[in-house]
Amino acid sequence: MGSKKITKRLFGTNGVRGVVGAEMTPELVLHIGAALGSMCRGSIGVGRDTRTSGMALSNALKAGIMSTGCDVVDLGILPTPALQYLVKKHDYGGGAMITASHNPPEYNGVKVIAADGTEMGDETILLLEERVFARDFASAPWADVGRETEAPHLLQEYVEGVVSQFPPGIGKGMTVVVDPGSGPSCRTTPEILTLLGCRVLTVNAQMDGRFPGRLPEPSAEGLSALSTMVRESGAAFGVAHDGDADRAVFVDDRGRFVEENAEFALLEQFVCRSQKGVVVAPVSSSRRIRDVAEAQGCRVEYTPVGSVYVARRMREMAERGEKVVFGGEGNGGLIFPSFQFCRDGAMTAATMVHLLAGEDRPLSSLLLDLPPLFMIQGKVKTRRAAEILSAIEKAYARESLDFTDGIRIEWDDVWALVRASGTEPLVRIVVESKDMGKAERIYQEILHHIEGAAA
Ligand code: MG
Repeated sequence: MGSKKITKRLFGTNGVRGVVGAEMTPELVLHIGAALGSMCRGSIGVGRDTRTSGMALSNALKAGIMSTGCDVVDLGILPTPALQYLVKKHDYGGGAMITASHNPPEYNGVKVIAADGTEMGDETILLLEERVFARDFASAPWADVGRETEAPHLLQEYVEGVVSQFPPGIGKGMTVVVDPGSGPSCRTTPEILTLLGCRVLTVNAQMDGRFPGRLPEPSAEGLSALSTMVRESGAAFGVAHDGDADRAVFVDDRGRFVEENAEFALLEQFVCRSQKGVVVAPVSSSRRIRDVAEAQGCRVEYTPVGSVYVARRMREMAERGEKVVFGGEGNGGLIFPSFQFCRDGAMTAATMVHLLAGEDRPLSSLLLDLPPLFMIQGKVKTRRAAEILSAIEKAYARESLDFTDGIRIEWDDVWALVRASGTEPLVRIVVESKDMGKAERIYQEILHHIEGAAA
């Protein structure tokens, strides 16, 4: 089912990214637009985040698309999941988002969306890349060049679509603080949570491509203003998005950053209490994700690392008639298949409201119910990933091994993953256990095997 990773030349795990004016130029984006238009029919939905280079790159992208005879619907500045929702809802032939997601302000890029609203899969991206490198574009004759329609008002359909997933007024009496990080979620999450009945306070809620308040990556260090406002306002939680709002991370009612695997597990538990079926997660996920699923009578399906693999697997399984209830990654990128098959930051924030509305304990207290786990993550620079992986396979041949992406080794009380990076010459290592000493011992043991194989 296309589960193995394919190495791409231009695109990474979530689109093309680069520094504006260096690798990311209007010429490149023009060619991506022309390649995309050559592969699609009808109208293509185009959106962008708040970056200063967004308008220039978006215009290049649109020119490329229209040159092939496709029409463009310019949806303006909006979150990636909003574009994905509108592409599917309006039966566009595809979509393209000018964004560099969580990267710093000097970056920009393109995420390409398939007609079904998921990020385009590897096989199709490879065809698109081939067209870009070969300059193989289906240029339209003069009478057939595409046209542009501006439709920024359609964003409201996404806002209403998210709100419709929840009981009316579910947030009544709850104060929440939203930090859109000057990104496109300024236009969505505060309004969505207000429509759910919450009293909403905001920080960094003016769209600004220079990101004056914090960087687009919602890391714990950047969220001190959010934490302070949560504590001072007595809010139930604070939520922050990355630069294109497909991810959401939280601070609890005491202003403390919620580790993303704990966020995943808590929301997974909430969903799995009312819906039984499959939870899809990358093979790098915390054991918690599996433990929570099994405790609720659900099961976990592992995919290679990358949200595209998770989203597309969920869709494939649902199409085969399997009941897929939840999915995501341990970085705040969570997927609610009852709404759509992509990571969705606003859905994540709204689901937290729904969860807390049904609890008489605060978020900080609910988090204490999750058993503590210690995760060690590291990387080793090497060009000998293949040799390293075969040495690891040999060393742990007697253990339970999973080859979904690299090698995941499972023991009763600890697990480890060793895998080659898709974009850089290095191998990544993850080890997790309830016992910190055990995690550390296994980590050192794996490093020793890697050094042996790389020598
Ligand atoms: Mg993102």
